[in-house]
Amino acid sequence: MRTPILAVLAAALANDPHQQLAHDVFKELIEINTTNSVGSTTRAAEAMAARLKAAGFPEDDVRVVGPNERKGNLVARLRGTGARRPLLLLAHLDVVEARKEDWSVDPFIFLEKDGYYYGRGTTDDKAMAAIWIATLIRFKQEGLKPDRDLIVALTADEEGGDFNGVQWLVANHRELIDADYALNEGGGGSIKDGKYLANRVQASEKVYQDFTLEVKNAGGHSSLPVKDNAIYHLAAGLARLAQFDFPVRLNEVTRAFFERMAATQPAPVGEAMRAVLRSPRPPGAVETLARLPYLNAMMRTTCVATMLQGGHAANALPQTATANVNCRMLPGEAPEDVRTTLLGVLADEAITVTPVAPAKPSSPSPLKPEVMGPIERITAEMWPGVIVVPVMGTGATDGLYLRRAGIPTYGVDGIFEDVDDTRAHGRDERLGVKQFYDGQEFLYRLVKALSTAG
Ligand SMILES: [Zn+2]
Repeated sequence: MRTPILAVLAAALANDPHQQLAHDVFKELIEINTTNSVGSTTRAAEAMAARLKAAGFPEDDVRVVGPNERKGNLVARLRGTGARRPLLLLAHLDVVEARKEDWSVDPFIFLEKDGYYYGRGTTDDKAMAAIWIATLIRFKQEGLKPDRDLIVALTADEEGGDFNGVQWLVANHRELIDADYALNEGGGGSIKDGKYLANRVQASEKVYQDFTLEVKNAGGHSSLPVKDNAIYHLAAGLARLAQFDFPVRLNEVTRAFFERMAATQPAPVGEAMRAVLRSPRPPGAVETLARLPYLNAMMRTTCVATMLQGGHAANALPQTATANVNCRMLPGEAPEDVRTTLLGVLADEAITVTPVAPAKPSSPSPLKPEVMGPIERITAEMWPGVIVVPVMGTGATDGLYLRRAGIPTYGVDGIFEDVDDTRAHGRDERLGVKQFYDGQEFLYRLVKALSTAG
């Protein structure tokens, strides 16, 4: 049964062809399974290609390319005057696995219920993918002649899998996606207790690095123990690591983050946010912020023990003990320096520290006025009082591959979500209906502003 409000909304929707198109594209994307296990991003890419061609995009400007038949990527181009270098609009097509029995609704049926759209990928990242397609078609219909090409890339294997689409495109089709800079996921609006707080712009990411810690011993019979024990060496080293904090280091993005966020926080935290920006830092400020894991992670490199293994029999002295330590390094920090720091903290020559795989460092994208200006202006127009906050991602997105390739990347979408109810990667993933169309309007205005003079 429809409530009157939903009926009004449905009527309004029916009157807006742009929203109707975004809705239809979104539904189509959600209902094409793009999981790594059994799905296909090629199917989703081809469905989007068909829509663009039907809207009048020439064959040559709509490409589906990829390493195999299941991991296709869409790259489409709306041609501009070429006065400026292209703008790349990125979203990933693949989604995290979702089992029907774990959900209260079918994850691969697009469902509107209680003011939300439900389905795997509604927040991560098919809303953005749908909005890019709908926006490109809208520009085409409106006859927009941007001063730069607008490239939409919808890609595979962001969440996992062996064929990351952005990495693959950078390596194999750089010419198709080469751009002045890119817009991507990773930002977004935050709602707290029903109040719109901030529109976040992700301009930097921490760098992922695992290390294996290992101690080797001669071993022997456990009835004749010796003090030189592999498990004791490793455990004592890890206990020292548990007490250790990496030094605080701020960059352009995290400085701006603390500056902007200070005004929105209750007194002790807001006060501490202002204090960490001062030099020298007043005592206690870092400690106040460090109690909150997210703020702690924004200030410093973190390394934490995540796996532990040792011994081979209940009645034998251990010959090997190993641990995995997962580090999230600040951009600009050298993995070798972090390894040296770990060796110093563990303070035991018996413990070896080896990187598991080479790090993929990416540098922060500069907060250019050319990009931040329109984001600030449109945010103020659409949500008066909401602040724009640059953030450093503590995890990783595909922005990493673009930044490594020299294409600055900004995670921004104007799609607001309740910070206490994020369901990306989880069960019953959903996105507010109003928030979806607001995001569509925000991104339409933003891309237009970034690609037309004045
Ligand atoms: Zn994502």
